[in-house]
Amino acid sequence: MHEVSIARQLVSQATAVAEEAGADRVEALTVAVGEATHLNPEQLGFAIETVAADTPAAEATVTVETVAPHATCECGWEGTPEDLASAYVVAPNVTCPECGARLEFAEGRECQLRSISVPDGADAAVGDERDDEETTTEPPQSPDP
Ligand SMILES: [Zn+2]
Repeated sequence: MHEVSIARQLVSQATAVAEEAGADRVEALTVAVGEATHLNPEQLGFAIETVAADTPAAEATVTVETVAPHATCECGWEGTPEDLASAYVVAPNVTCPECGARLEFAEGRECQLRSISVPDGADAAVGDERDDEETTTEPPQSPDP
């Protein structure tokens, strides 16, 4: 199963981050799965709980979030084409609806560890995790060309 090998990597990463934070166990971990992958979020969550059984993450609450495919173009367009998810699985050459150039994918094609929680209450952020997602109301920002 593909999910199991990925789950092992995620659990390994989570426990490593916990160790770096000085924690002896992981209370919760959040994983982001791109909708353009063929991974089943439920199966991945189950796989994580399974492979975590003998690790410091054994008691962790596992949350699997799905991330919509997101692409950017050098012409400045960015977004999620209607057929992006299916198109990416079939062929990675999805083109820009504005200029026809091949799109670069920013998100939605991989799964990755988003964040973990450790017992001392100090969440260990992973990567560019943003903690204010629940209250985020600002519109998507477009980088200036
Ligand atoms: Zn374009």
